[in-house]
Amino acid sequence: MRTLVPAEQLEGAAQQQYGQMLEQARSQRVLAPDNHPQLQRLRAIARRLIPFAAPWNSRSRSWQWEVNLIGSSQVNAFCMPGGKICFYTGILDKLRLDDDEAAMVMGHEMAHALREHARERLAKTQATSLGLSLGARLLGLGELGNVAADLGTQLLALKYSRDDETEADLVGLELAARGAYAPPASVSLWRKMMTANGSGGPGFLSTHPSGPNRIQELQDNLPKVQRLYEQARG
Ligand SMILES: [Zn+2]
Repeated sequence: MRTLVPAEQLEGAAQQQYGQMLEQARSQRVLAPDNHPQLQRLRAIARRLIPFAAPWNSRSRSWQWEVNLIGSSQVNAFCMPGGKICFYTGILDKLRLDDDEAAMVMGHEMAHALREHARERLAKTQATSLGLSLGARLLGLGELGNVAADLGTQLLALKYSRDDETEADLVGLELAARGAYAPPASVSLWRKMMTANGSGGPGFLSTHPSGPNRIQELQDNLPKVQRLYEQARG
């Protein structure tokens, strides 16, 4: 399924979509400027995680990673294919994330991109839309829009599977630990996320569905990454 959407095509579509999103945020005056303290904090975190990304996806060596912050009450963050990261101020403010917890969010989002979860999800959707456009052509209706442009808009509405979530949790935990961020923050992050759910809006949890064992699973994995964390600290 994955081969239906070439990585290059998806990364190109993501870059285009990300650029449009930033442009829109800029015109609405909600795009954080480079000297915004919260944005600087996020970029510092990214600089500590990115060096450990390549073992999870060799293509990522050539990604142009970017981190941006948008003023919005939404509790959300994402990393598009190709390493385009965005946080909304809502996730930092409403969950009162410390650096370790913010690193866990970023690691989780980076893991989705590195493990190409979007590509897998989209391959299934695209099989459907290719079928649609083929059907339309047969009926003489012409192409139903540009598939590549569609990909970009679909990226933001993707809902991951619980298996994707588990992988993103564990890969993200390891990335953060190697970047010298405290592993127990993964547990406190998800506790906060669960508590905020309902009051903080469904944003993050609706696209990142939690299984019943998410926190337990993270807790069970803390000992495995503790040494990586200590080595990184040392
Ligand atoms: Zn997720």
